[in-house]
Amino acid sequence: MVDESCIFCKIANGEIPSSTLYEDGDFRVILDLGPASKGHALILPKSHFKDVCELDGTIAAKVLPLGARIGTAMKKSLGCAGFNLVQNNGEAAGQTVFHFHVHVIPRYEGGPAIA
Ligand code: 5GP
Ligand code: ZN
Repeated sequence: MVDESCIFCKIANGEIPSSTLYEDGDFRVILDLGPASKGHALILPKSHFKDVCELDGTIAAKVLPLGARIGTAMKKSLGCAGFNLVQNNGEAAGQTVFHFHVHVIPRYEGGPAIA
């Protein structure tokens, strides 16, 4: 299901162009517009879920393995030493776009602390 008023639905489904790093039938992985570190990416499901509480089982089962693959690829392509998988639920938790997404944040040796 897609929400016509949701910008991440439009990006995930290719209606709005984005810097796409990876795409399959369920997900699009894009670069974050306001990166916390070089290469900061977002994993967007193509279906609309407001947050983790709405996620369906199939997407839930796939999203962490995909995050692991993206993070591992970042180590090779960007030379980062590690990566964070971060996911916010609700305004109070820092969620600003209400379409479930997982941040993949590359972390570099000697890089700054990121809250
Ligand atoms: P949240 O705060 O909801 O967990 O994360 C939203 C993220 O989406 C932020 O890091 C923000 O920089 C990013 N973002 C917001 N709008 C856009 C957009 O139109 N395109 C891209 N690529 N990233 C966006
Ligand atoms: Zn959406």
